[in-house]
Amino acid sequence: MSDDCIFCKIIAGDIPCSRVYEDDHVLAFNDINPKARVHVLVVPKVHFDRLHESDEVEVGMLGRILVGVGKVASANDITGSGYRVQFNQGRGAGQEVFHLHAHVMSA
Ligand code: 5GP
Ligand code: ZN
Repeated sequence: MSDDCIFCKIIAGDIPCSRVYEDDHVLAFNDINPKARVHVLVVPKVHFDRLHESDEVEVGMLGRILVGVGKVASANDITGSGYRVQFNQGRGAGQEVFHLHAHVMSA
């Protein structure tokens, strides 16, 4: 938990979200500013930011994000029509929230 992180506050229930999927490891919710018909964020429940600082310790958490991506795609019925998965890393790539997350966007 990072005190100044909006996604940590959503995970803690301090800020509401439109939940799509949840398990012990990730929370997935609709993006507040959707860029596609389906635009869901898959967020690990532990605060972590930079993919390029990940190591063996993060392997489980990183895999759980991708499992969550698949659950979100199935829940939204976009497995047939297709979807994109995006991780923005760094301000130069458009990252606004510095808590690792996957964007799941319908094609
Ligand atoms: P980034 O640019 O960091 O990869 O993506 C952050 C995403 O979080 C953006 O698409 C933005 O619309 C979304 N976002 C920011 N604040 C909130 C919020 O309070 N609730 C929800 N549901 N989405 C948010
Ligand atoms: Zn956080």
